[in-house]
Amino acid sequence: MDEKYCTNDDPDQPTGIVYLVGGGPGDPGLLTLRGRDYLGRADVVVYDRLANNQLLDYAPRAHFIDVGKAADHHTVPQDQINEILIREARHGKIVVRLKGGDPFVFGRGGEEAQALAEAGIPFEIVPGVTSAIAVPAYAGIPVTHRGIANSVAFVTGHCAGPDTLDLNWQALAQGVDTVVFLMGVHNLSSIVSSMLQAGRSQDTPVALIEQGTLPEQKVVVGKLDGILDQAAEIKPPAIFIVGEVVNLHSILTWFHPETELVSE
Ligand code: SAH
Repeated sequence: MDEKYCTNDDPDQPTGIVYLVGGGPGDPGLLTLRGRDYLGRADVVVYDRLANNQLLDYAPRAHFIDVGKAADHHTVPQDQINEILIREARHGKIVVRLKGGDPFVFGRGGEEAQALAEAGIPFEIVPGVTSAIAVPAYAGIPVTHRGIANSVAFVTGHCAGPDTLDLNWQALAQGVDTVVFLMGVHNLSSIVSSMLQAGRSQDTPVALIEQGTLPEQKVVVGKLDGILDQAAEIKPPAIFIVGEVVNLHSILTWFHPETELVSE
């Protein structure tokens, strides 16, 4: 392990660093070894609600800063999060910015890294297991499958009203085998109607997976044109997956959380 940034024992020359660590999709066992190692060394952990709080146990010597984000509501604005990271690193601290899933997949990790780069703060990225792949996997849905899906797109469903989110619906509906929407619960009806209007078949199998990889996991499986009627109970965080691979769920279900499936 490279120790070059971890020597902050010279009081005249504090050399802090920020590790942007992907905490994985929920199941704490999906944290990487490097992520666990950096948590163990951290002086400060800056975290939000998407990363499993159990991971904080790996940071026994750290001071914790909760910048928790509720859906659609940033409890601490992004520029303040950036400032916290910069401030702590300038104090010579080893800072872990713990993020849900992968830091660079819809996690604003890129923006945080940009702010650190502009401020001249050393940083490292520790990729994480993204919910975009792991949550379907825990529902027995491979995002690609030979003969069924050769392509997959990860798409934000946040602000997915056709007027507000500039998505190429035609390309998604007709050119991509598996489409995985993150942050799509609030805009589900807009996503569904956009996909249908852009030419995706109404019979396309779809799944909604809430709290994937966790004991609270809920899976709803249906067809593109009927899923809205089944979706009432689904709350964020959830993944919406569109494509023929969803049919494999009935064969490949392997994870049996404590709660029952909402429907099949
Ligand atoms: N960087 C994260 C994504 C952040 S965006 C990653 O790589 O996973 C937040 C969205 O991720 C949520 O709205 C939801 O769509 C998805 N998500 C994260 N964890 C999830 C989980 N355990 N179950 C279902 N969806 C999840």
